[in-house]
Amino acid sequence: MLRPQIRAALEGVIGRGDFILGEALNDFEKEFARYCGSKHAIGTSSGLSALELGMSALGISRGDYVLTPTNSFIASSSSVSFTGGTPLLVDMEPETYNIDVGDAEKRIREGTKAVMPVHLYGQPAEMDQVRDFAERCGLAVIEDACQAHGAEYRGRRVGALGDFAAFSFYPTKNLGAFGDGGALVTNDDEVAARVRAMRDYGQQGKHNHALPAFNSRLDTLQAAVLRVKLRHLDEWNRQRRETARIYDEWLEGSSATTPRSLPHCYHVYHQYVIQTEDRDGVRSRLAEQGIGTGLHYPVPIHLQPCFSHLGYGKGQFPAAERAAARILSLPIYVGMTEEEAEHTARAVRELAGARGGKP
Ligand SMILES: *Cc1c(COP(=O)(O)O)cnc(C)c1O
Repeated sequence: MLRPQIRAALEGVIGRGDFILGEALNDFEKEFARYCGSKHAIGTSSGLSALELGMSALGISRGDYVLTPTNSFIASSSSVSFTGGTPLLVDMEPETYNIDVGDAEKRIREGTKAVMPVHLYGQPAEMDQVRDFAERCGLAVIEDACQAHGAEYRGRRVGALGDFAAFSFYPTKNLGAFGDGGALVTNDDEVAARVRAMRDYGQQGKHNHALPAFNSRLDTLQAAVLRVKLRHLDEWNRQRRETARIYDEWLEGSSATTPRSLPHCYHVYHQYVIQTEDRDGVRSRLAEQGIGTGLHYPVPIHLQPCFSHLGYGKGQFPAAERAAARILSLPIYVGMTEEEAEHTARAVRELAGARGGKP
């Protein structure tokens, strides 16, 4: 449907030949910053690199800790490791699945510099609590907004609710490019200037390499695609919310539970996740009916082999561990029809059974 417009945008870049740090990238950065209600947006090669560059710009390095939830995509924590720092993992709040600020408060230790909530599945973390905690403890606030383009917390879009936010434009995200991409969004002029330089070999002015060098730019071609798609993001999020509403309605009274949606948030449903007993059984029976589902995420970060050196073990994050064994992501995508959503919801309802009853 958008193909002719995207083709034209790509042709424009090819005509100009400005593939690196070109005009469409500049334009997209301005438009995305405005969309997020923030001063700066800086295109990066991925969401992971946006997190990493932003933390480096804040001065996070060896010996520093960053509080971040264990129930997230691995990149939230890997980005901390890339700076030389160490992720200090936190359990999820069992109703919303977002960071449990009370638990963060218990786990904080000497050398902690920042807290990184993840707006998981497209629902903003409880940012008033996060900011209050961060202020009391002198921590920077980093939003991992990689699943939450366009989500709102108390009427404000995510991206401008902390020191900086990271977005991913991986193709399946709510706003996706034709390949990898990301952006860092911030109101902080200093952070913006540092990240702009670092993503481009640390250059501040031609041949003046003042800062650590990364090659983490967003391609102009990807920015051209994203400019066209950004204009449709609100409508796409509205469609996702409509699918979620149909699922909510059908699953009401079934034994499948969903994360609580906060009334003061605008949830953009990157994923629609349920919890059910016999998750694997439900999943394979749905597959038999041709309904594909996902797991986000079956192994919490504290049990991933790449972080075994941190010494975490089973049982240390009970809410996240319980969820990891029971969660199932139902299909949700732009262009999904009401019939498709109802068909899936009906199948899940039958397989999960009534609340309190036997399936
Ligand atoms: C996708 C994602 C990332 C990483 O983004 P990439 O562009 O794939 O590097 C980080 N955090 C979360 C929560 C994500 O979903």
